[in-house]
Amino acid sequence: MATVDIRAVKKAYGSTAVIHGVDIDIQDGEFVVLVGPSGCGKSTLLRMIAGLENISGGEIRIGNRLVNDVPPKERDIAMVFQNYALYPHMTVGANMGFSLKLRGGPQAEIDKRVNRAADILGLTQLLDRFPRQLSGGQRQRVAMGRAIVRDPQVFLFDEPLSNLDAKLRVQMRTEIKELHQRLKTTTVYVTHDQIEAMTMADKIVVMHDGVVEQIGAPLDLYDQPANQFVAGFIGSPSMNFIKGKIEVNGSAAFVTPDGQRLPVDRVPEGSVGKPAVYGMRPEHIRIDPNGVPVEVIVVEPTGSEILVMARLGTQEIACLFRERLTLKPGEIFHISPQPGLTHIFDGATGQRL
Ligand code: ADP
Repeated sequence: MATVDIRAVKKAYGSTAVIHGVDIDIQDGEFVVLVGPSGCGKSTLLRMIAGLENISGGEIRIGNRLVNDVPPKERDIAMVFQNYALYPHMTVGANMGFSLKLRGGPQAEIDKRVNRAADILGLTQLLDRFPRQLSGGQRQRVAMGRAIVRDPQVFLFDEPLSNLDAKLRVQMRTEIKELHQRLKTTTVYVTHDQIEAMTMADKIVVMHDGVVEQIGAPLDLYDQPANQFVAGFIGSPSMNFIKGKIEVNGSAAFVTPDGQRLPVDRVPEGSVGKPAVYGMRPEHIRIDPNGVPVEVIVVEPTGSEILVMARLGTQEIACLFRERLTLKPGEIFHISPQPGLTHIFDGATGQRL
């Protein structure tokens, strides 16, 4: 196991810069998820840790060893890809032991490691099968087995679950998390799926356009997003953003351009009268006869919850209720946010105030 230190790392393809100086500290045994929308640079960063891409600037250390110029096979890492890339003509056992065989060790040692990994992953009964005789989830497990047999210092996962259907994704996500709890190997995991990030990570790194927007524990990012980008990216359905400004004539309130008044938990210094954005998560909205009026646009029941799209003045918001409501399109109802759970962002910079 090892720490991974990423210092001021940059990447450019020709004259196009795609990673603009990234700093991340990964502790020994930590499960870190790099998350962000497509094209934000997360795979490029992972591939730089793996040694599959050159580093244009900065330093990467694995276990205190500077690896900028160390070839991938000498970095003591194992990578699991989205397309499992199994050898079709080899059995599960041969696939899992292949990298050890290339390295050339005693066959008994290879068998021991393959059997241990198969045991960990529940693949013991499948060792003699070929990849075409496996389900998608089993193939993904074999790909993980191939990484485990090498007993690396760091596991790198690049969107490993993207090719699986929704149900299997949820199951594999639990399996990978459980695997990490057992092996405690330092892990860097790339995904565009914020739910995967929230559910699996010890620490999430939110990336956007080649920069790190915020690093923190999943619930810290949910509770205290550093800016509007993180606030909108973490959490589902996304946080509602309402434009307006804070006014303090009489009592303090956030006032929309239509004159609707929303309660504020605090008045950030220097924010009064300036363009701002009010953040309110759909699940933190409650029905309140003394709240602001909103008009129902669409009602979407899921069984456990009801998602209501509604109009607040000219702006649209999503509200998530756990109780069974009989709301109809066009109907007016009144809402307020749960106290202590609202957010205010700078209207110009998007930074949390
Ligand atoms: P992500 O994994 O977050 O979807 P990537 O790391 O794959 O993003 O890509 C980051 C950016 O780098 C994108 O804008 C992509 O177009 C660009 N990029 C990736 N690989 C290359 C390449 N080989 N040549 C030029 N640009 C690339």
